Amino acid sequence: MRPTEPTARPAEPDRDCPRCPRLVDFRETWRAKKPDWENAPVPSFGPASARLLIVGLAPGLQGANRTGRPFTGDYAGDLLYATLKEFGFARGTYDARPDDGLELIDARITNAVRCVPPENKPTGPEITTCRPFLVATMAEMPNLAAIVALGRIAHDTLMGTLGWKKSAHPFGHGAVHPGPGGGATVFDSYHCSRYNTNTGVLTPEMFRAVFAKVQAHLVDAPPKL
Ligand code: SF4
Repeated sequence: MRPTEPTARPAEPDRDCPRCPRLVDFRETWRAKKPDWENAPVPSFGPASARLLIVGLAPGLQGANRTGRPFTGDYAGDLLYATLKEFGFARGTYDARPDDGLELIDARITNAVRCVPPENKPTGPEITTCRPFLVATMAEMPNLAAIVALGRIAHDTLMGTLGWKKSAHPFGHGAVHPGPGGGATVFDSYHCSRYNTNTGVLTPEMFRAVFAKVQAHLVDAPPKL
């Protein structure tokens, strides 16, 4: 499996990436309101040599948009990083700060849309516009063997990025979509948001079950490089 688009674009957007006017306006508004926040496209976290890529939808306003590291500073990060540590994909202490020293092991985290959207909702065109950065991120991972899609929109974005038909690969929590030709396998999970956990849509056990499948899958996928 390889992404379906050319990768002329770098994997990380410029801090002042101008491509989504609505998101640029939102970013500028928050730069004025909160000059001590990051308020910029959030780069991927973790080594490009990793076999596992976790794909979220977009930075949270007071989480990654504030701190500059994916899933850092809001509830979603508490559950995600605790689970990654439990399965050996992270070490150190997660303290909701980008300088907490937490290290990802054989795992990387990115977002399908790099800039914070109003009300956590990017538009379809914004998802499409930011997709080349996801394509480039995946292309620079030679060992990529497993992708966790956090939520339906991240899943659908991934299907488009990989050139897979959504009808043949519908989203479902716990669903596993093997990559054709031995390429990376996609694992679906409900998003680890506070809303989903508070409403019981996603329990910590359900989340752990996804990463248990990923861990088992990677036993049979040794690094290529
Ligand atoms: S969401 Fe992506 S493409 Fe749009 S402005 Fe931000 S970095 Fe650029």
